Amino acid sequence: MKLSEVTLSHHYADLGDAFGRQIAPTPFAHPHLIDINPVVIQLLGINSAEASNPDWAKLGCGAKLFNGSRPFAMKYTGHQFGVYNPDLGDGRALLLGEIEKAGRRWELHLKGAGQTPYSRFGDGRAVLRSTIREYLAGEALNGLGIRSTRALSIVGSDEPVTREHIERGAMLIRVAESHVRFGHFEYLFYTKQLQAQQQLIGDICRRFLPGTHGLSAGEQAEAMLRFTTQRSAELVAGWQAEGFAHGVLNTDNMSIIGDTFDYGPYAFLDDYDPTFICNHSDHTGRYAFEQQPGVVLWNLNALAHALSGFVSVEALRDCLEQFQPQVSHAYAERMRAKLGLAVEEEGDQALCAELLQLLQQSQADYARFFRALAHYRGERPAQALRECIATAQQDALEHWLEHYDRRLAREHSDFRARNRTMLATNPKYILRNYLAQKVIEAAEGGDYQPLRTLRQLLQTPFDEHPQHETWACAPPESGKRIPLSCSS
Ligand code: AMP
Ligand code: MG
Ligand code: MG
Repeated sequence: MKLSEVTLSHHYADLGDAFGRQIAPTPFAHPHLIDINPVVIQLLGINSAEASNPDWAKLGCGAKLFNGSRPFAMKYTGHQFGVYNPDLGDGRALLLGEIEKAGRRWELHLKGAGQTPYSRFGDGRAVLRSTIREYLAGEALNGLGIRSTRALSIVGSDEPVTREHIERGAMLIRVAESHVRFGHFEYLFYTKQLQAQQQLIGDICRRFLPGTHGLSAGEQAEAMLRFTTQRSAELVAGWQAEGFAHGVLNTDNMSIIGDTFDYGPYAFLDDYDPTFICNHSDHTGRYAFEQQPGVVLWNLNALAHALSGFVSVEALRDCLEQFQPQVSHAYAERMRAKLGLAVEEEGDQALCAELLQLLQQSQADYARFFRALAHYRGERPAQALRECIATAQQDALEHWLEHYDRRLAREHSDFRARNRTMLATNPKYILRNYLAQKVIEAAEGGDYQPLRTLRQLLQTPFDEHPQHETWACAPPESGKRIPLSCSS
């Protein structure tokens, strides 16, 4: 499809006024295209040659609208750091509409598009820094097989935007199969709009749970909660296995279809530290890395509560009780794959726990250790692994490797096969915050090539790219634990 042939439909705006407001974007006066994501262009069914179409700069900042576009600010509320906030909604983003491709509907959401009725005191803008962070994170998580929203484009401007410093404004087109958050249901519940809530439940079921067609509202609500619970469990298991800390797991940042959603002060772990808090304003560690499964359950509880007009308490509870086993199952599966284990054994959890303890005590780099493990043939000394581990923990590493050797021997593990699957499971390239920072600084200076290079590496994180070895290096001490605020 050519860019000029793209026509959006907009099922969400069709739901009606209970769900938000149609509102025009506030475009930039002098936009320029910073990057366009060729993988997402393809996902949407747009010809790859259209990447060079000059219209993207205008489309990506609302100066020109796609055919059929009806920019719409969605209303939602949510619990922020455990406290209910009734005043949320799309304060700086607009749902433009959706594109259908191969039976999937991809919504386009323009972030940084100016003020809306839900902006409160905000300026409706986004800065280049946070836009780049969101863009790269979506690619990084997708590259690792973890559900996430993605982004189609970043458009920059010369418009000054005031945060802690004066920065430059940018806009991003976010792409996802749904932009409905837990907070959408909380809004309709707390404002007692049960009919609208039923409508939204029906809409999610129609799009994602076709088997629920014809069921009662209560049955659909329960099916939706089961679906969201399962998806959220798989999501957080992926985060824990790959070392991703979201940073702001408020219920308005939780996607009903289980995508990683709304990127702020997130981090991929460098050194393995489960207590790591990436969000500089999270003083109590509510959203610390190891707290994530518990916090996601807390959020599912808030969602379940918001569905209590339709589903019995017994059914809600039953549904939530599935979460912990679902997380454990999904996490164990991912960790077995990371360790190159083909069959399941009872002691696997202990083997994994012993390794994580060793990595923590050693302050070892999480991703680099697993990548090195993929090359481990059972040789001694296991030099590449020893280099990942502190001197004080070398004996513990030796002890763990003996345990691991015995485990591999029991399943007659073959090095070549194991090496191949482990290299496709343990990334060489991850989105470390110091790399994101490097790319942002270059982009702020007008050089977008590092951004494009890192984007490409994150889209194929398991492949070797010999000319880009430096992007796979261990971070310098100064590049670890960069404090990140919510300002974006
Ligand atoms: P977040 O911290 O990104 O989850 O956003 C929380 C709420 O603040 C949402 O309702 C956002 O739409 C709103 N918001 C964030 N930044 C801005 C901004 N610059 N202008 C207007 N609203 C904003
Ligand atoms: Mg948010
Ligand atoms: Mg945000």
